[in-house]
Amino acid sequence: MNRTILRHPEVLERLRELAPLLPRPMRFMEVCGTHTVNAFRSGLHSLLPENVSLLSGPGCPVCVTSQGDIDLIVQVASLPNVTLCTYGDMIRVTGHDGSLADARAAGADVRIIYSALDAVKFASENPRRQVVFAAVGFETTTPPSAVAVLEADKQSLDNFTVLASHKLIMPAMRALLSSGEVEVDGFVCPGHVAIITGSRVFQEVVDGWHLPCVITGFEGPQIAAAILRLVELTLRNEPALENLYPQAVTDEGNTFAMKLIDKVFEPVDATWRGLALLSDSGLALRSAYKRYDARTRFELVQPEERINKACACGDVITGRISPGQCRLFGTVCTPARPMGPCMVSSEGTCSAWFKYGRQSAAATAARQPAEPQTQGAQR
Ligand code: SF4
Repeated sequence: MNRTILRHPEVLERLRELAPLLPRPMRFMEVCGTHTVNAFRSGLHSLLPENVSLLSGPGCPVCVTSQGDIDLIVQVASLPNVTLCTYGDMIRVTGHDGSLADARAAGADVRIIYSALDAVKFASENPRRQVVFAAVGFETTTPPSAVAVLEADKQSLDNFTVLASHKLIMPAMRALLSSGEVEVDGFVCPGHVAIITGSRVFQEVVDGWHLPCVITGFEGPQIAAAILRLVELTLRNEPALENLYPQAVTDEGNTFAMKLIDKVFEPVDATWRGLALLSDSGLALRSAYKRYDARTRFELVQPEERINKACACGDVITGRISPGQCRLFGTVCTPARPMGPCMVSSEGTCSAWFKYGRQSAAATAARQPAEPQTQGAQR
């Protein structure tokens, strides 16, 4: 356990004081992979009062990427003369016909990059290679993708394209709440997304569903403070949006970054693992930049969703079940031999469960209503 959370006993003490006043068990959800990992790493789950639990939602970018998109990325990596660049966690995610790691073992040129501009630089230095940047992530990672496209355009590169699977967080929260399948009493909102979008995007959850939303930073004590605030707002019957991360998050967000996104990308319908097709929930390159779209350049056809039915990631990332309710967890599926993206990704819930102690996670699971496993996300 990371003990930083114990240096702020007042938050946990106050939570324990207030929890008995709650009318029923409360389930709050975080929608940020970093929150997922740090809540587990700090031992927060096991320190929460019995009637307060924290669920993981669709906040891990790799985990929400659809199986069809994963298959497409692996397909492109295997095309002749292509160098595929992507962020590290994507390498081991298994598609229907294997992973990028498998493609690389079979001879494909797959490179891990740490910045979208690394892909542009590689394209600039290797004009004979077609460099494809497989871009995933929420509003946080989209601005760098936009910058990469603009830089490629500035250099008039004709060997650089983006295979974009970017997602927007609000459509996912909307879909989750509208489905009525998951009982949630409030949200711990992602600080880093809010830095870009501004805090006000989450107001819709308060207005539309009368649920409290608290934006916070990433350390265990910050997440604990957000949960305390959610409990306080619940007790006052005062659904509201609160920003506990004002040093970084403003109402309007990073308008420069938002303009960059809007200049290069436009909203499109996108398929999510666990949430199916959601309208205007993804981003595609605008027509002015279509020449940098790998789908256009290589005339790609989107593969159909062929999900591994044994993997329940779709249910895990929507809070319908906990990882321990997946029959493969910890036996067939481990970080060393992951069967699904939730175990591959460093921000995945299954990976966090496995790494940071199933004991504390079991405390959360015990508070969840038992739900049947639905054999992965077929919706
Ligand atoms: Fe998928 Fe493995 Fe998680 Fe089960 S334990 S949901 S197989 S990633």
